[in-house]
Parts: sequence; structure tokens; C-alpha cells
Amino acid sequence: MIRYRSTNCAAPAADLREALMRGQAPDRGLYLPERFPTLDVHTRRSFAEREYADIATQVLAPYTEGLLAPDELAELCRQAYDFPVPLEPVRDEDRVYILRLDRGPTASFKDFAARWMARVLSRLVARSGRPLTILTATSGDTGSAVASAFHRVPGIRVVVLFPREEVSDRQRRQMTTLGDNIRTVALNGKFDDCQALVKQAFADPALEGLNLSSANSINVGRLLPQSVYYFYAAARVAGPEQAVDVVVPSGNFGNMMGAVIARLMGLPVRRLVVPVNRNDEFPRYLATGRYEKVVPSRACLSNAMNVGHPSNLARLIAVYGGWMDETGRICQEPDLAAMRRDLYSVSVSDDETRAAIRQAWERHRLLLEPHGAVAWWGFQLYRRETSARPVPTVVLETAHPAKFPEEIERLLGFRPEEPAALKALDHLPESCDTLEPRYEQFRDYLLALPRP
Ligand SMILES: *Cc1c(COP(=O)(O)O)cnc(C)c1O
Repeated sequence: MIRYRSTNCAAPAADLREALMRGQAPDRGLYLPERFPTLDVHTRRSFAEREYADIATQVLAPYTEGLLAPDELAELCRQAYDFPVPLEPVRDEDRVYILRLDRGPTASFKDFAARWMARVLSRLVARSGRPLTILTATSGDTGSAVASAFHRVPGIRVVVLFPREEVSDRQRRQMTTLGDNIRTVALNGKFDDCQALVKQAFADPALEGLNLSSANSINVGRLLPQSVYYFYAAARVAGPEQAVDVVVPSGNFGNMMGAVIARLMGLPVRRLVVPVNRNDEFPRYLATGRYEKVVPSRACLSNAMNVGHPSNLARLIAVYGGWMDETGRICQEPDLAAMRRDLYSVSVSDDETRAAIRQAWERHRLLLEPHGAVAWWGFQLYRRETSARPVPTVVLETAHPAKFPEEIERLLGFRPEEPAALKALDHLPESCDTLEPRYEQFRDYLLALPRP
């Protein structure tokens, strides 16, 4: 059975149930599996022929051992992954593929993790009989994915905080139109303020009775399922021993940590390319070896990546032998040379993001939205700057273009086709509370909520 250790090393190792329930470790670190079982060549080759849910079951089985029976895990993966996962070769490119992770119910890649975790947690709550409050901060897509994944799950209540001015109409409607067990709070502040309130609530003994849990990307239940699609994609574009490059547009670094985990499990990722928007703390860190958060975080077109201090860096640094505490201070240096060998990161401006949307369409008839466009531009820079020998490359598109209809129409002259689930939102009533970024007010709000 795999146990989960805190990146701050001052809390006891936890089993998966405890790590899922706590979200954050008691020493304010993030949980990380104590070891990463490898998948052999034969298994990874078999993935080329197998369905997504089936691959998820095999990749995740060692992590859920002791908590879920194999049949239970397989059933839960089938329920969570009931939508297509398209992998498209890019026209006029040599072995470059777009992995579209945007076909879930809320049209962003966050559905992959949220839907899995909701199903695991609902089983735990059913067993314990103790209701749970999921508290989550979102810069756009986490909230809708989490809210949708937990909507009407008995015994679980969800409170989503989002920065009032920083989410699109669509993103807000995806959260505020659900109702039932889903409460939404529009904060007069930034994403960082939302995150700070959530962190403080978790540390507040006055809220213990609420049985708080986090579905943020800090929860290890959100992290593990994000390793699966790298196995799925690599098996479809390359042999099991052939190196691939992977490009992941990044904000809080949970998605890219999925790729790091896949690599630790034996996937031959040559370079993991992690383009970011103008929140450029990570590429600057790789270049200089000095870490400075971006405070306040910068509002960019790719708004789900407006993160000035990615929580998951603590995990990345831990994997490379270092220690970053919860404030972003590096207490022990990681192996920076190894990080530079394995990772490539670059900051992409909004102008470049727009240019990428235009270029991808004009040159390849490839339709991208701002997050995927950051990835695409970063990939072009990576090829130019490193003159790397081409290997099969998987570029992630993390949201559906129809979530950004105005921007795309302005750039390309047409509106992307909308998935039915998004279209329906325009006619549903919204319900939402507004708060200031003050902790006492937030705590009172939580304490006044009815029981789930
Ligand atoms: C959340 C999100 C990202 C960033 O993912 P991280 O795991 O936070 O790095 C990228 N694109 C979209 C569409 C997102 O919703």
C-alpha cells in the first residue's frame, strides 16, 4: 500500500483516505506519494489499444490499493470517463499531436480530476456517514469542474470562491447555475485572495465541525488522475520505449505534475515543456535559480493560469530533492541542473497568445483557445531555442474554444461551435453570494451554512 508524505516533512505519512480528506497536510505541506510504481513496457504498449477508463484503472490502481477494491475502481473510472479524449495529428507538422482534454461536461481538463475525485469521495462519505464540505478556490475552471462533478452528490456540500472580475461570463454561469448542494461566492478580490481565504479556513480550528476538504489542485486526489492522459497519449503516438515531448500550459502546476508523475512511473518523456502566461515566476526561477512570486498575480487572457505562486511547485521541488515551504521559500535547494535538463519553461504574453491563435488556424487549421495557444506558442519557442531533434510531441489543449467566443471571433472572424452543455447555460437562473476578502466575514459565512 502506498502512503502519502507531506512536502514539509513534519507531518506523519497518511493513507489515501486521510490525504484525500485533509487536502493539505497538518504541517501545511502537500501530500505526495512516497513512491511511484513503474509500469513496464508491455503494459504501456497495451495502452495503445485500450480505452481511457481502462488505462485510468491500471495507472491508478497502486495508489488506491487498500481503499478501493479493483472492481470498485474500474466502475468509478468508467463513470468518470464517459466522454471522448481526442488526439489529433496537427496538419503539416511532423508527429505533432493535440490532445483535447475539453470534452467533459464543463469543457476543461479539470473534469478529468474532479470527476474522479468526486466519485472516490462519495464512496468514502457513504461509508463514514459523516457529511463533508468541499471548499475550493478557482481562477475559472476548477470551480465549474468541481461543482459539476459534485452536483447532487449526497452528503457533500461544495463552496466555490472565485475572483469576481477575473472569470468569464461562461465560467461563472457554469458554477452559479447549478444550485442544490453547490454554493458560489464571488469575491471582490483576486484569485490569490480566494486561495488565501481557503488556506486560512483549513487551518482554523473553529471550522473543524464542518469537516472541510479541498478539491483544489493541492488535493492529491486531484493530482493522481492527471497522470493518466499522458500514458494514453504517448501510447498512441509512440512506441513504449520511444521518447516523447509533452507541452502543458501551466498555472498552478497540477497538470504538469501529472506528467512528472507519469515520467516517474516510467513514461519516457524527454522534455516537459511548461509554457506560462505573464505570471513568469517559474521560467525566471529555472533561468536564475532564484524564486520570486509574482504578487499580485497578473490578469491574462489565459485566465485559468493567472497564478503568481503555483502551489504545486512545492511538489515539483520535492521530486527534485529540495524543499519549498508553503510560503514559497526554498529551504533546501533542489537539483536545479536536473530540472533544467527535464523541463523547459517560457512566459507567453497576451499578444503572443493572440498571434498563436491566428497562426495555428492559418497554418494548420488548428482551432485553439487562449490556454492551448500559450502551449502552442511556447512549443514554437522551445523548438526554435533548443533546436531539439524532433520526437513525437503531444501538446495539450486544456479548454474548449467555445468558452472564449468573443476573443476567437475577434481574431478569426467566426464563433466556435458550442457544445450543447455550454449553450444551455445562457437560459438558467444564477445564484451567487458576494463577499469582501476578509477572513472573519468568510468564516461567519461558512458557519451560517445549512447542513448538507
Ligand atoms: C486550470 C487550467 C490550466 C492550468 O492548469 P494547472 O494545473 O493549474 O497548471 C490550464 N488551462 C485551463 C483551461 C485550466 O482550466
